[in-house]
Amino acid sequence: MVSNFSVEEQIQRNVFFSSLEQLKGWARSSSLWPMTFGLACCAIEMMGVGGAHYDADRFGSFFRTSPRQSDVMIVSGTVTKKMAPVIKRLYEQMPEPKWVIAMGSCATAGGPYIYSYSVVNGVDQVVPVDVYIPGCPPNPAALIYGIHKLKEKIRYEAKTGKRVV
Ligand code: SF4
Repeated sequence: MVSNFSVEEQIQRNVFFSSLEQLKGWARSSSLWPMTFGLACCAIEMMGVGGAHYDADRFGSFFRTSPRQSDVMIVSGTVTKKMAPVIKRLYEQMPEPKWVIAMGSCATAGGPYIYSYSVVNGVDQVVPVDVYIPGCPPNPAALIYGIHKLKEKIRYEAKTGKRVV
C-alpha cells in the first residue's frame, strides 16, 4: 500500500524520543494498584470504583489485598488517633515508589469530626499525601478524577525530575 506521507512525515508521526525515567513514569502511572483498605463511609464510595459501573480496572487500577503488592494507599474515611499507627505501619509496608490519596473531608482535614478528641485532623499528619479529594463523601467519579490527577503528577515528576508537593 502506498502511503500519502513522505518519509520525514512518517518519522515525525511514528518515532518517539523519551527518557528511561519518563518510560518508567508512564508504566507506573498506567498501573496504579490501590490497597484494599477503608476506614468509614467514604470507603463505600471507594468500593463503587472497583465495581462494574465505574470499573477502575479499565485504567489499570486493581485493588490489592496486601500492602506489599500495592503502590497507592487511598485513605477513605475518618482517621482516628487509635488507627493512625496502623495506617503508618501499612504505609511503611508498601514498596517504593508509593503514593497516598486522601479521599473525603475526614481524611483531608478531620471533616465533621474536626473537634473530636479522638480524630486526627488530616491523614497528612501521619503519612505524606499526594492528592486530596474534597467532599463528604466524594462520589466514585471524584475518586477516578483523583486517580487521574495522581497519574498526571507521576508523569510530570518523571518528565521534569521535580517533586510536586
Ligand atoms: S468525609 Fe463524610 S462520608 Fe467520608 S468518612 Fe467522613 S463523614 Fe463519612
